[in-house]
Amino acid sequence: MSRDQYTFTNPAELYADFEPEKQHQPEPGLDATLTPKADLGEETYRGTARLAGRKALITGADSGIGAATAIAFAREGADVAMSYLPEEEEDAARVADILTDAGATVVAIPGDLRDRAYCRDLVRRAVEGLGGLDILVNNGGKQVFNDDLTTLEDDQFDDTFTTNVSAMFWITKAALPHLVPGSAIINTTSIQAYSPSEILVDYASTKATINTFTKALAQQLAPKGIRVNAVAPGPIWTPLQVSDGQPQEKIAEFGTQTPLGRAGQPAELAPAYVFLASAESSYVIGETLNVNGGSPTP
Ligand code: NAD
Ligand code: MG
Repeated sequence: MSRDQYTFTNPAELYADFEPEKQHQPEPGLDATLTPKADLGEETYRGTARLAGRKALITGADSGIGAATAIAFAREGADVAMSYLPEEEEDAARVADILTDAGATVVAIPGDLRDRAYCRDLVRRAVEGLGGLDILVNNGGKQVFNDDLTTLEDDQFDDTFTTNVSAMFWITKAALPHLVPGSAIINTTSIQAYSPSEILVDYASTKATINTFTKALAQQLAPKGIRVNAVAPGPIWTPLQVSDGQPQEKIAEFGTQTPLGRAGQPAELAPAYVFLASAESSYVIGETLNVNGGSPTP
């Protein structure tokens, strides 16, 4: 390994040769065909046993931020249950191999987060396959841009809320009876929660909801020793962005508006999830950790 996540670097120059390319994929999009490839930390993430013996369930673990988090968790010593859509089997299989190589027990549980029965079953199968559960990462999400509210289909609005918000509720509710003191719940929100784009009215609204859900539930669960936090990514290079997350003409300049002047890579998100999952963040509760290249947040 020539570089790892601890290597001293200038963040403004990191990924300097990376240029997002215009392209379109049908939803949900695959990392396998994303050009250029996203950095999931495959070559760089070095574990130091920060999650040794832990048992994690991650939704959207096949690609992007969820995959980078899964790789980091496995290299930190955790076993991982992966949720993803059946269409994403190719991405999921590749990530599962990386986790297995790291020595993790991997439980693959494909299904649709919009299905309440799947969400409940997902938790049951994760607990069964891992022999318990003490980390839950609600990360799976839907983002499809729309220019004009009068053309925003009711079904898209409902799907975005069901995938991003209802599934988080169903899964968290089903997981709670299994979570022992010391467990961590981490939700993926977004800079869109407080800096919404005019073309992401539905999506941005779900992310504000996720932030508030996190802060409310965190207070309820703190006395039980279960910490709830969120990570709020800025513009990150993932399949979500090229499967109608953004209009095509915006892809080339994706991320350049951040103070750092570039898009982030999934590998740059994973350490935030590791920190919030690990016992080292014992006094961090109800927090939203912004990983966004420097854009101001409330
Ligand atoms: P991604 O496409 O790699 O991951 C999203 C995942 O969500 C998919 O892999 C898929 O497995 C899952 N998913 C979507 N709909 C589903 C459904 N109906 N059933 C089951 N699974 C479903 O993209 P990503 O950017 O890594 O997204 C991960 C999270 O990060 C999302 O919550 C997204 O909103 C959030 N986020 C992304 C960015 C960004 O710029 N990429 C910025 C802020 C927040
Ligand atoms: Mg995917």
